[in-house]
Amino acid sequence: MKIICIARNYSEHAKELNNEIPENPVFFLKPDTAILPKDKNFYLPEFSNNIHYEAEIVLKISKAGKYIQPEFAMNYFNQITLGIDFTARDLQSTLKEKGHPWEIAKAFDHSAVVGNFLEKNKFDLNNLTFRLDKNQKTAQKGNSNQMIHDFSKIISDASRFFTLKTGDLIFTGTPAGVGQVLEDDELEGWIENEKVFEISVK
Ligand code: ZN
Repeated sequence: MKIICIARNYSEHAKELNNEIPENPVFFLKPDTAILPKDKNFYLPEFSNNIHYEAEIVLKISKAGKYIQPEFAMNYFNQITLGIDFTARDLQSTLKEKGHPWEIAKAFDHSAVVGNFLEKNKFDLNNLTFRLDKNQKTAQKGNSNQMIHDFSKIISDASRFFTLKTGDLIFTGTPAGVGQVLEDDELEGWIENEKVFEISVK
């Protein structure tokens, strides 16, 4: 399986990192080794001094497709959750300055937290609130209605380049409010009123 991520999908977040808002989705991938195993702690990696959390709605692809048209895109996933796209911001900034790919800043081991999946039919996907709590305080919150590219557009566009397969995950971008995690932080991910993950940073 693969993990497809979209960058700069919330304008307030693009602004906070001084990025321009792209016309087309900016995609990047994480390998399956990026997934943090369930109930494991996240260990701060030695190669970075500034790991950021990015809380994002995650879609789980339920059937294979290529060149999916936007009007059918919502048939390609049944379940959603919240995830974290952990990012080595210091590495990413250096790589971006040089015009190099960000891979090592985004796709490293355990950089993808994936919560417990929920049936998408329970929710209004156009008005889906989510949040990340850090040490019992809300650190980041968002709503799917703030996305620049909606789920249909993301799936449709991604499938022009990457054949989607059952079990693939799509991280749909982070809202404003990203920040650093430190040792002993406790993170909880929520979609509406459901807690979907709880992890400790070590
Ligand atoms: Zn992200």
